Amino acid sequence: MLTTFGCQMNQADSQRLRGLLAKIGYAETETEEDADLILFNTCCVRQHAEQRLIGRIQSLINHKKRNANLIIGVSGCMAQNMQAEMLEALPLVDLVFGPNDIEELPLLLQKAANGKTLGSFVSKGSFDGDTADGIILSRPFSAMVNIIRGCTNFCSYCIVPYVRGPEVSRPMPELKAYISDLAASGVTEITLLGQNVNAYGRDIGLEEGFTQLLEMIEEIDGIRWVRFMTSHPRDFSLAAIKRIARLRKVCEQYHLPVQSGSNHVLELMKRGYSREKYLALVDAVREHISNACLSTDIICGFPGESAEDFNDTLELVAKVRYESAFMYYYSPRPGTEAAKMADQLSEEEKKDRLARLIELQNSISLEESRKLVGRDYEVLVESAAARDKNDLVGKIRSGRSVNFSGDKSLIGRYVRVRIEQARNWTLSGKLLPPEGA
Ligand code: SF4
Repeated sequence: MLTTFGCQMNQADSQRLRGLLAKIGYAETETEEDADLILFNTCCVRQHAEQRLIGRIQSLINHKKRNANLIIGVSGCMAQNMQAEMLEALPLVDLVFGPNDIEELPLLLQKAANGKTLGSFVSKGSFDGDTADGIILSRPFSAMVNIIRGCTNFCSYCIVPYVRGPEVSRPMPELKAYISDLAASGVTEITLLGQNVNAYGRDIGLEEGFTQLLEMIEEIDGIRWVRFMTSHPRDFSLAAIKRIARLRKVCEQYHLPVQSGSNHVLELMKRGYSREKYLALVDAVREHISNACLSTDIICGFPGESAEDFNDTLELVAKVRYESAFMYYYSPRPGTEAAKMADQLSEEEKKDRLARLIELQNSISLEESRKLVGRDYEVLVESAAARDKNDLVGKIRSGRSVNFSGDKSLIGRYVRVRIEQARNWTLSGKLLPPEGA
């Protein structure tokens, strides 16, 4: 049984883990009781996730007593970051390995089965063995593709560069072969992933590598929609936006994490751009990409954030009018520069600012969603809806989810839907007959 925490990079790593496990004879179980291997693919970006995981592992003590063959493993960023502590503090855990050591899993499992408690941290940061037939997709028509691993930005609050190592881009010819194989197997939508996709190719001597990559994918038959995340505003050039605007497969979904609307805080965060530069980027996206859907990440209550700084963030949010935002209050990550900064805000103050920010963003999200009512969209049908299994859920090009009634045979197909109702982020609508029918 494999449980994934955290970002889409982790979801993509889980695709790979599932593939490797299937190759050596493991099949996914529904419950922990039935499992001989319980693997947690973890994230360490937020402390909350660590506490949740520790609780989950401790609750497995009875399973471990009942099943002598049960192997408990932890992979991902938290595993990399807390390798020694984890093996020492959680005696139930048999194996711990980082995100760059996924290929070692079959070997580690063999050793763990022989009763050894293991940690593996080769951290070579490569894409060795990452082939299209080595993954198991949760949806056979949609795949996540890691194009660059690691990060060299060292934003002052972030643990990722320490855990995932420096940027390593996957060579373009390999990506071409990989994505062509995915397309041949029936995948029509891909999401390109990296901590900073705009840095793609920088480490392998490519100028404007990310744009070149998108232009290459535009030519691959079978791929209809291409999404990407995460973009770094500092590295997203205006020239790139103009070139991307010409590519019809690239969806109009732009996740541009701003983190703060205050220049003072952006400097403390070491984000490498100013509020003005960020707003110029937003203007360029809106000017060149029609119907662009903008989303963002915001941290409020960063050390040293004054009331005025926070107001700058509120003002920026009101100005940009994001369709959605991931909003957090700052929580210190040991080992980062920001954790040692003076002027840490109280929990109460951070929570109060977050509540105000969420209230503002929710009202904007709803207003923006309502603008879509009455319009027709192409939708990739993803699955049965979670709440009502008779309904389907799909995504439009800009990334918004739409619920509508329809037959399950439509899953994986592209259909047209008229939007009839809008909530904050989710839409509902009715299925239209195919065009020309
Ligand atoms: S760009 Fe900054 S926030 Fe994003 S992963 Fe790199 S260091 Fe962390």
